[in-house]
Amino acid sequence: MNMKYSIIVFISLLFSVGAAACSPVRGEGIQPDRDIKMPDDGLMIPRPMEARRLEGYVDISQPLCLKIDAQDDVAESLTKYLRTSSLSIVGPALSDMPLLLTVSEDEKLPSSEEGYHLVISNDGISIEARGRAGLFYGIQTILQLKNMYGASIPAWEITDWPRFGYRGMHFDPVRHFFSKDFLKKQIRMMASLKMNRLHLHLTDNEGWRLQISKYPRLTQYGAWRLGDIWDDWNKTGRRFVNQGTAGAYGGYFSIEDMKEIVAYAKERNITVIPEIEMPGHAFAMTASYPELACVSNEFSPVGEICIGKDSTIEFLKDVLTEVMEIFPSEYIHLGGDEYSIDYWAKCPDCRRKMAEMGFTDAHQLHGYLFRTMEEFLAGHGRRLIGWDEMLTGGIAPDATLMSWQDEKAGQAAALAGHDVIMTPGEYCYFDGCQDSPEKEFRTPDSPPALWNFLTLQRVYSYDPAPLSMQGRERVLGVQACSWSEWMPNEKRVEYMIYPRMFALAEVAWSNLNEHRDYTEFRRRALRLCDWARNEGYNTFDLANEIGERPSSLKATEHLGYGCEVKYNKPWLPDFPCDGVKSMTDGIHGKWTYRVNWQGFKEMDVVIDLGESKTVKEVRADFMQYADDRVVLPGKIVISCSEDGKNYTELLSLDNPYDVYKYLYRTYGWKGAERKVRYVRLQASPALEGGSVFCDEVEIW
Ligand SMILES: [Zn+2]
Repeated sequence: MNMKYSIIVFISLLFSVGAAACSPVRGEGIQPDRDIKMPDDGLMIPRPMEARRLEGYVDISQPLCLKIDAQDDVAESLTKYLRTSSLSIVGPALSDMPLLLTVSEDEKLPSSEEGYHLVISNDGISIEARGRAGLFYGIQTILQLKNMYGASIPAWEITDWPRFGYRGMHFDPVRHFFSKDFLKKQIRMMASLKMNRLHLHLTDNEGWRLQISKYPRLTQYGAWRLGDIWDDWNKTGRRFVNQGTAGAYGGYFSIEDMKEIVAYAKERNITVIPEIEMPGHAFAMTASYPELACVSNEFSPVGEICIGKDSTIEFLKDVLTEVMEIFPSEYIHLGGDEYSIDYWAKCPDCRRKMAEMGFTDAHQLHGYLFRTMEEFLAGHGRRLIGWDEMLTGGIAPDATLMSWQDEKAGQAAALAGHDVIMTPGEYCYFDGCQDSPEKEFRTPDSPPALWNFLTLQRVYSYDPAPLSMQGRERVLGVQACSWSEWMPNEKRVEYMIYPRMFALAEVAWSNLNEHRDYTEFRRRALRLCDWARNEGYNTFDLANEIGERPSSLKATEHLGYGCEVKYNKPWLPDFPCDGVKSMTDGIHGKWTYRVNWQGFKEMDVVIDLGESKTVKEVRADFMQYADDRVVLPGKIVISCSEDGKNYTELLSLDNPYDVYKYLYRTYGWKGAERKVRYVRLQASPALEGGSVFCDEVEIW
């Protein structure tokens, strides 16, 4: 069973100069990239680092004779895990097909604790690793092959290890509450995808979701709001009520529930990282205990806590003390994002604290809070992690940053010497829709989503630490976030995260570099979607995906291509697109009006063809995203001229407002050929106060 191949020696030689195997593993896989095109027999996600197809197939429907050569606790916990899996495990002498798990310090093994060497052959199955995590992941690979191929799995030799030590998924049970069983179901999928960090956003304005013994009102009151839908509640006075009140929506995890989730995750090599938000996003906390706010809570709907009062700091320390008893995670997430300084600047307590500390700017209170909390956590052997706004308030020195706003924040933090987890919205936020918004939001039961549009392909294209990035060695890993403002139930959360989580898992584990082959990945993702649906996961329908807006994929060279455009009325300063070139550059907009669309209060442009040309068609696309008052035109006029003075009207169209959230429409004139040099297009929004967005005026 102890097969040795030169390829493994090659890997370990490279690894011996690499990162130390600690947790979290720093940096990335060090070896040169190898472009493994997974054949039909290799439908694993994430793609292994090194894999070699051996001859034949192995029948694993028969019982496997389990032999474990490892410390007692590792052997016991893996045996227990395997007995809950779909593999049939028996004791020695009851089967000829061994499943051999070995903990070894063999130098040929990957140096990562999570790496493993797996051989599946007709002699049996063998996994070697440096510890439990690696053995566990070897088992996951076997289970995934079984899920894909059934009883007879292809024979492989795989040597595998993660690119990043931190491979995270985030859930938000605050905006809408999810059950313990739902989280366990997602934990099982995360484990199968070799993800190892579960970030739970447990507190926010809309609710407090973790029982704290010392402050029972946080969950007896702060976990229950009047109104189930986040947006409705937001717009109707943000009222909390006591648990048990008629119409109360919410819930929370008891200490016992949460310990159960933490243990369930740990068995699957997943650390649960709790997030307790401060100083903003804290309305549920200040609503429950108004003395935590600067002034009477009703004046502070954003919920910032008062940092000036020492009693607030003590309250937070009490909460964190209980949090640390529930969560063994080294990292404790304290949020830190999207806070306002307005209340602090006016608050006598905060002003006194500022004077005492010699602060001139209320933002410094944020830094003071985070330094205080970091010291407190460090005193208990824990580390602070928070969102990238920590950079603005004077960051706690050893804090780790979660970079959500864009990649630059992550890079800045890395250069300032902080560890960074990359979770930029444009690649990692799964709350935007993943296919044509017009299609996604046309069904009556479809809840809204953000403007942001993120395909599976785009998630897969992400490199959290490209070679060009300065400070990339500080990037510990990558995480996807599933903020649930617009995900009112568990089914919807699954729809939004699968299959995008498959892509994120591969980005986090596999060293893809320039060999990213989306077509090949999509083939594997389709199969995994099929399996997941059979298992009761409500995945997005990848097979019928439209994908990126088809017209945006390549430039259109029409008669007006590259011609000069005169703007009789200006474009919106925030949405200039590509300036004067926008209407004739051949480039069509993406699904979101924020990419390659030009915005106008009133659109009035003239395209100069440079000379008289024969024209038979003029057309333009407009889009609507009603939430942001981007609307289709209510009136469109297209006219043409030979001399630029005397215009002939080709089209004049009145277009009543359509209430759908997302719409994409083409308007135009088509008729008998005529000689034209100038084409004028005027459009005004169908709603007062709205704006129109156009991406190109095509002339044919
Ligand atoms: Zn205050």
